Amino acid sequence: MSDKLHPETLAIRGAKSQTEYNEHNQALFLTSSFKFDSAAHGAALFAKEVEGYTYSRTANPTVSAFQQRVAVLEAGESGIATATGMAAIQAAFFTFMKAGDHLIASRSLFGTTAGFISGIVSKFGIEVTLVSQTDVAQWRAAVKPNTKMLFLETPSNPLNEVADLEALAAIAHEAGALLVVDNSFCTPAIQQPLRFGADLSVQSATKGIDGQGRVLGGIIAGRNELVKEIALYVNSAGVSLSPFNAWVLLSGVETLFVRMEKQAANAAQVAAWLRTRPQVKAVHYAGFDDHPQAQLARKQQSSGGIVVAFEVEGGQEAAWKVIDSAKVFSKTANLGDVRSTITHPWTTTHGRMAPETKLESGIQPGLLRLSVGLENVQDLIADLKQALA
Ligand SMILES: *Cc1c(COP(=O)(O)O)cnc(C)c1O
Repeated sequence: MSDKLHPETLAIRGAKSQTEYNEHNQALFLTSSFKFDSAAHGAALFAKEVEGYTYSRTANPTVSAFQQRVAVLEAGESGIATATGMAAIQAAFFTFMKAGDHLIASRSLFGTTAGFISGIVSKFGIEVTLVSQTDVAQWRAAVKPNTKMLFLETPSNPLNEVADLEALAAIAHEAGALLVVDNSFCTPAIQQPLRFGADLSVQSATKGIDGQGRVLGGIIAGRNELVKEIALYVNSAGVSLSPFNAWVLLSGVETLFVRMEKQAANAAQVAAWLRTRPQVKAVHYAGFDDHPQAQLARKQQSSGGIVVAFEVEGGQEAAWKVIDSAKVFSKTANLGDVRSTITHPWTTTHGRMAPETKLESGIQPGLLRLSVGLENVQDLIADLKQALA
C-alpha cells in the first residue's frame, strides 16, 4: 500500500491477505500446512522457484500480514515474527553472533534479557561487555575487533534512561557491527529506532502491540537482507509465531496509535502528580522537561511513553504496602496493557539480579513501576493517593 498514507492508516489498512470470500478483517489461517497443486508444484515451492505457503513454521498468511504491517510502522523493509519477545532477542543474537564474537549490551536491560545474556549467551562462547545505558564513551571504549553487536532498550526498564541511538549507531557501524534496539517500551507508535540508525528493531508484541494482555509474541523489523537471515533461524529453531496469536496481535496493531497516545497522556499526568507527593523520593519519566536526557527523548520519541517509575520513602516494606493497597492498578508484571499495572522491580522483573547489580543499575528496594493504561486518569491518581496514604 502507498507510502503516502500515514502510519495510523497503515496500522489499519496495511498488509492483508484477501481470500475469495471478501472478508473485511484479516482472515485467520489456522492450519499447520498447505497443499500443493501437484508433485511438481510441491517441488517448485520447496526449491523457492514459485512463491507460496508450505508449512506454518516457515510462513503463514496471517503471520505474514502481521509481520508486514508492523515492519512498515517501524520504518523497516520487512519483519519476522516470533513466539515471544525473548524468542525475537534470541533469534537476533544467534543469527548474527557465534562463539568467539563479542556483544556490547546496556547494563539497564529487562531482567529476563539480562539473565539470558549472563546465563545462556555467554555459555555459547559469545563474549559480553555490559556498559552504561547513557555514557556513549563507555560503548566506544568497549569496542573490540570481534564486536558484532550493540544491544539496548530505550527508554530503559524501569528507570526510563534514554540512550543516544544516532551516536550508538555510528559506533556500531564504524566497528562493522549491528545496532539492535528492543523497542518494547515505546512500540513504533512512539519511537522508530530504525530512523535513528538502528539495524534491527526488536520487540515483545506481548506488551503494547497486544495491549490487552491476551497473547505472547515477538517481532523484528529491519532491512530485507538481515530479516531474511533471521527468518531462516526462526524457521530452523522453531521459534515461529502461532497464526492465532498473529491474528490477535493484528487487532492490537489497529488500535495501537490511539491507545499509546492516550496512555502516554495519562502517564504524563500521573508522573507530574507523583512528584507533588511527600512520600515520593524520585519520579523517573522520560516526558519530564528536566529528565536527564530530555532533549534526546524529544528527538527520538513522540511522547514520554506509558511507563512511570517512582521511589517511595521506606524501602521494600513501604513499596509492598503501596502495591497491596492499590485497588484499581493490577498487581502484575505485564506492561503496555489498557489496564494500569503496578510492580516492584526489586523482587519481580529484576529479582534474579544480584542486589549490588540492581543498585548499580539504580534499582532501589523502594522503587515501583507503573504501566499506565486507559482508565480515567483521575481514578488512577485517586487510587495512588489512597495507596500512598
Ligand atoms: C517483556 C519484555 C521482553 C520479553 O518479551 P516476552 O514476550 O515476554 O518474551 C523483552 N524486552 C522487554 C523490554 C520487555 O518488556
